[in-house]
Amino acid sequence: MIIDLVTLRSSPYAFKASFTPEEINLESENAELKSPANIEGTLSKRIVQADVDGEISAVVNIECSRCLQMVDNNLNFPFHASYIAPENLSEAKETELRDADLEIAPFDGQHIDIRELVREQIFLNLPTQVFCSEDCKGLCPKCGANRNLINCNCEEKEIDPRWAALKNLK
Ligand SMILES: [Zn+2]
Ligand SMILES: [Zn+2]
Repeated sequence: MIIDLVTLRSSPYAFKASFTPEEINLESENAELKSPANIEGTLSKRIVQADVDGEISAVVNIECSRCLQMVDNNLNFPFHASYIAPENLSEAKETELRDADLEIAPFDGQHIDIRELVREQIFLNLPTQVFCSEDCKGLCPKCGANRNLINCNCEEKEIDPRWAALKNLK
């Protein structure tokens, strides 16, 4: 879905769209789209820029930060994106944008690619830490086994020195 600012009849312009996981490639090794991503937004055409505001929802499959199993995560977040035509970008602003967000898509001043916008926004809003369950036991630091699935017994053989110290206090 591409919105053409030149032929856009009304502003603000409200739109809705949905993209399948095949259409949105997050290009991430530890996260992928699991359900269609839905966007509801409003595009406002201004003198030197266009602003898009709205909400995006999707289910994303993300690696558990402890055990690396993939878990479903419901994402639902508001977003705001500004598109500034290259000729209206001062050099300072350009540098600022580049520094702020390297993922920002190039903008030709006329076409807004809503699919690309959704991809970028999901990427920017991925949770930094995800756990498959609150009490995920994670991977064994010694043998690498997933402790939720296997009891590798590494711990029992060796007592953590910190706990040993506590034992002595008692
Ligand atoms: Zn886990
Ligand atoms: Zn182990």
